[in-house]
Amino acid sequence: MDAQRTLRRRISCAGIGLHSGNKVNLSLKPAPIDYGIRFRRTDLGRCEVPATVQNLAGIQLATGLARNEVSVETVEHLLAALTSVSIDNVIVELNSPEVPIMDGSAAPFIYLIHEAGIKRLQAPRKYLKIVRPVAISRGDKRIALYPSDHFKVTYSISYDHPLLRHQSRTLRITEESFVDEIAPARTFTFLKDVEMLRQNGLALGGSLENAVVLGETGVLNNALRFEDEFVRHKILDAVGDLALVGYPVIGHLVAHRAGHALHTEFAAKVLEEMHSWRLVEAPAEPGAVPVSVPVKHPIPRLAT
Ligand SMILES: [Zn+2]
Repeated sequence: MDAQRTLRRRISCAGIGLHSGNKVNLSLKPAPIDYGIRFRRTDLGRCEVPATVQNLAGIQLATGLARNEVSVETVEHLLAALTSVSIDNVIVELNSPEVPIMDGSAAPFIYLIHEAGIKRLQAPRKYLKIVRPVAISRGDKRIALYPSDHFKVTYSISYDHPLLRHQSRTLRITEESFVDEIAPARTFTFLKDVEMLRQNGLALGGSLENAVVLGETGVLNNALRFEDEFVRHKILDAVGDLALVGYPVIGHLVAHRAGHALHTEFAAKVLEEMHSWRLVEAPAEPGAVPVSVPVKHPIPRLAT
């Protein structure tokens, strides 16, 4: 059976928030069947913020969530790591509003998850399977999901910069491909924007330790991790933002010049367009056809 998964044990790390610059402790804790991914601010009591589009808030340069005046920010890299290694149920505890940026990629979170170990639960995983296309475009920015037998992402970006005119990549996202090809890709910014970000109180924790910075003619960091690290990081962001639909997706995500605002608007639209997907349960036997799950409520996990 393709079972739901959680962590084997609690694991913690410390880091700083990219935008706030504040130190933050992060703990990942095992959670039961159908719990989903929920954030808890330990500095604000035990109020939980489920990682779903209903709790979206403050999408600017990163993806934020809020519920009952409890907010968590910059959730996307952690969500991408959790969902790509098929962690369905987990409690994420933070003692400050922002998920630590670590090295700007999802690789440190993958390391943490692997250190904690993965535990299978006695319930089948449910997937959101795309059966009709869903799309949004805003000017030359586009994002869509098409039916496919697997979760695949095609992303293309273009900027007015000599190093970054155009990059495009298509990848079938599996645990292995995500860990090897996407998780290490770091967030990036342009040197010309850094001053403006700081003046607006953003990127206060940003440095060459946690972001690739593009100057006029090249990167200020010593080296890139991949020749096309930039588009790989956009795939990472899109995977993390799409996780807010609350289920792993079976479909082909195609995005051009999108960002957190469009990714998250799209995730909400996907859930609204209930005729374009079905919830399916993973087949018990390899190669068998998945079973459709009756949907009583569009997002059952929100009942709790
Ligand atoms: Zn990112």
